[in-house]
Amino acid sequence: MKHTRPLIIGNWKLNPGSVFEANTLAKSVAKNSKAYKEVITVVAPPFIYIPEVKKVLGKSAVLLGAQDAHFEERGACTGEVSPAMLAEFGVSYVIVGHSERRALGESDAQVNRKVRTILKRRQVPVVCIGERERDKQGNFFNGIEAQIRALTSGLVAAQVQKVVIAYEPIWAIGTGATATAEDVKEMQLFIMSVLTKLYDRKVAGRVRLIYGGSVKPSNAGELHEHGGMSGFLVGGASLNAEEFAAIVAATL
Ligand code: PEP
Repeated sequence: MKHTRPLIIGNWKLNPGSVFEANTLAKSVAKNSKAYKEVITVVAPPFIYIPEVKKVLGKSAVLLGAQDAHFEERGACTGEVSPAMLAEFGVSYVIVGHSERRALGESDAQVNRKVRTILKRRQVPVVCIGERERDKQGNFFNGIEAQIRALTSGLVAAQVQKVVIAYEPIWAIGTGATATAEDVKEMQLFIMSVLTKLYDRKVAGRVRLIYGGSVKPSNAGELHEHGGMSGFLVGGASLNAEEFAAIVAATL
């Protein structure tokens, strides 16, 4: 089921190169967002920029996201940042299980633990799933189902309804090769069917599904209209405030 307000998240990854540039970008995103009040707009800067970006966003409607968080709240976890620490700086959305982090060793079990900790802090976990490549027989759907089962493991209906699932085929991330709206629609129906098996149709319909993978102003309209998802996770194009605004506009 499509949510009424689209959710567009800009994943800045390891960009931009300075806090000055991050603030400039945030300022433009905040300014542009005034025209798109019907859309939930989120930016996820690198951790270190979050306090400054928060100041720049000020009272604008743009929400703050983070690109990861640890599953422990505190303790001997060198180099980590907890959801509670992020909450103190106004972070309400936390991306977990991004393929670039899974490539560094993040496991399905860790993703599930992160989801639980994030939910405990009343933040929204944005969990990335997606296949490395597609095969003609459709075996990649098994991997997607396994990821959904793992991320929802132990979650009751009231919890899973608060999770955002970002379908991000790895072959489409940062490559310029976007999934077609048909591929995305098929995946939306598949994810819904898995969630229906695990919970029920009503619960499945309440889980927000978004798409990510080389979303650009030129393909956002078609993907939004026919892909059946309720928003986008945007990497590269979120670093250009005008392109990001055009993607947001395409969902209206
Ligand atoms: C991403 O990093 O989540 C992503 C979708 O990147 P891009 O839009 O650059 O493909």
